[in-house]
Amino acid sequence: MKALVFEGPNELKLRDVPLPEPGEDEILVKVAACLICGTDLRIFRGAKTRGVRIPSILGHEFAGVVEATGVNVKEFHVGDRVGVAPVIPCHTCFYCKNGLENVCANRTALGYEYEGAFAEYVCIPAPAVKGGNVYHLPSNISLEEAALAEPLACCLNGHHNSKVKLGDVVVILGAGPIGLMHLQLAKSSGASYVIISEPNEHRRAIAKEFGADRVVDPQTEDLNSIVKNVTDGLGADIIFLAIGIPALAQDALTLVKKGGTINFFAGFSVGDKAALDVNLIHYNEIKITGTSAARRDDYRKALDLIAKGKVKASKMITHRFPLDKAEEAFRIAGSSQGIKVAIIP
Ligand SMILES: [Zn+2]
Ligand SMILES: [Zn+2]
Repeated sequence: MKALVFEGPNELKLRDVPLPEPGEDEILVKVAACLICGTDLRIFRGAKTRGVRIPSILGHEFAGVVEATGVNVKEFHVGDRVGVAPVIPCHTCFYCKNGLENVCANRTALGYEYEGAFAEYVCIPAPAVKGGNVYHLPSNISLEEAALAEPLACCLNGHHNSKVKLGDVVVILGAGPIGLMHLQLAKSSGASYVIISEPNEHRRAIAKEFGADRVVDPQTEDLNSIVKNVTDGLGADIIFLAIGIPALAQDALTLVKKGGTINFFAGFSVGDKAALDVNLIHYNEIKITGTSAARRDDYRKALDLIAKGKVKASKMITHRFPLDKAEEAFRIAGSSQGIKVAIIP
């Protein structure tokens, strides 16, 4: 089969590799679409990432059709449309037993320890099949839309940690794919006013289209006074950092109201550190939370939200490329030209 093989920083090669043969508890999936994640981009550019091997096949945001099943697999059949939650928890560690399987001490994932889906086919390993990581797709969503369930599940986990309530004012820093999903989730959760700050004009226009009450260009407008104006000088209830720029961490502390919540959703580049006026956290009783990956149940809910039209998945996928145009696909994904870029094998 054809696969994009990651052979080192900036080396993504289209190769002919052996078609995986599913073991007795495994499933072979014909990939219909695999989206490029910000993490794939960072890996491609050389960021050392736990679990990523060289050479290996990346890609963890995907959906497809069952091509073959192992003899022990009863729940899935050839031709079934499936999506896969790529993070495979161990089910037995402290975190798995306490509702935090997304930060499982022994977690593995497709596109990391296991071969991913930037390929014609992907083999779903036994721990994922037996562990309930594979989902039948609702009939009214396309395979491409289903590929968005993984990043959406991570955003849902961020909301789980931040708890947007009816009437909240929410500020989202960054209107990339993650910021746009947080926007749609915040609106669905009952936020009364969502402000998105984003320097790119095209992305601001999309945020407006997706329901942002106010889009702000941080290069020419004063986000702080805009937030204070709509909150009677108090500040926002919740801030989502949807872009990993260290200076924004301190900005967030001045945008949030006393007792409010900041979610450090985006990861920073390894080694990046933010200087924080920690007295703001202390005196203002600010809650700070992070988000890492997603639980299997977040994935199930994400599929459901897409199926019910709460998140405009098809509008989020703006570019599509075949495997042999991967270079162009990664270039577009790394620019601000589109939102989500799909590889269609
Ligand atoms: Zn991802
Ligand atoms: Zn575990």
